[in-house]
Amino acid sequence: MSKKIMLAHGGGGRLSAELIDKHIVPRFANPILEAMGDSAKIQIEDKVAFFTTDSYVVKPLFFNGGDIGKLAVYGTVNDLLVAGANPIAISLSLIIEEGLEMDVLDKILDSVAIAAKDAGVKIVCGDTKTVDAGSADEIFINTAGVGEKMAGAELSFDRICPGDKIIVSGSLGDHGMTIMSHREGMKFESDLKSDCASVASVCKAAVETCGADVKFMRDPTRGGAATTLNEISVSASVDIEIEEAVLPIKDSVQAAADMLGFDVLEIANEGKVVIVVSADKAAKCLEACRATQAGAESAIIGTICEKNDEPIVELITRIGGRRVVQMPYGRELPRIC
Ligand code: MG
Repeated sequence: MSKKIMLAHGGGGRLSAELIDKHIVPRFANPILEAMGDSAKIQIEDKVAFFTTDSYVVKPLFFNGGDIGKLAVYGTVNDLLVAGANPIAISLSLIIEEGLEMDVLDKILDSVAIAAKDAGVKIVCGDTKTVDAGSADEIFINTAGVGEKMAGAELSFDRICPGDKIIVSGSLGDHGMTIMSHREGMKFESDLKSDCASVASVCKAAVETCGADVKFMRDPTRGGAATTLNEISVSASVDIEIEEAVLPIKDSVQAAADMLGFDVLEIANEGKVVIVVSADKAAKCLEACRATQAGAESAIIGTICEKNDEPIVELITRIGGRRVVQMPYGRELPRIC
């Protein structure tokens, strides 16, 4: 195996998982980190707080449906929301390459301000660093966020059990295919639009309606739904079955993926959430998600199956065949967010 960092180490797939599990987490081992949530759950006096951080290196900086600034707010806010936390405040750290146009920076900062207002978070601290031309690619952004527990949210991998249903809050692959088509300069680019948005309304609707029957939530960002489903499967030691016929995928996204040779399940989303909910409450949860604007196209896409020490995620194809949905390697889509 290569001893150097490759782009695929940042792809959110198998190589990212290896980097995190072998090199990073063991060095800092503690129960909070090892829970491997989208946000860390920390105790401050008698209160639970949620804390998360993310860096944004998307290329290009501007794309249909968003830009790096909008992404840097919603990406971090969404990691709090899917962990069952209401976002309170975020930080904003900028690493700027010498030569970036001030107008471009202003446009990104305006976008940050609009998204933060929409998400109901304040930017409460930050940092600016510059590096010489060639040492970065225009601008990189890091945001960290804190939140407080959403009333009624009881989310963790170990609450997932056989029979639970899996809901996805809308069409898959919109963000990743938009970025890729921009880069490839493809003709159908104009039909594609990133889903970059807050998942607040969907997460809150699910938890308010179904409470502890909502077992787990995660946003299928880098590595797409394939990564999220494999993470759920491994962390909860359960097989998962999903159905191809009910996956919400836009025709334009499927066409772009086919043309470029991608599996839509492995493509990043930036405004969707995967929800695991008890079978009893699945219909009610779906109805609540669909009643929100962001979740209008929510669908039940699959089921949590048997407990298994070596679990797999399987796709039932349209004609009734079965295909294993692998954890993507990570080389597919560098710098997607
Ligand atoms: Mg996440």
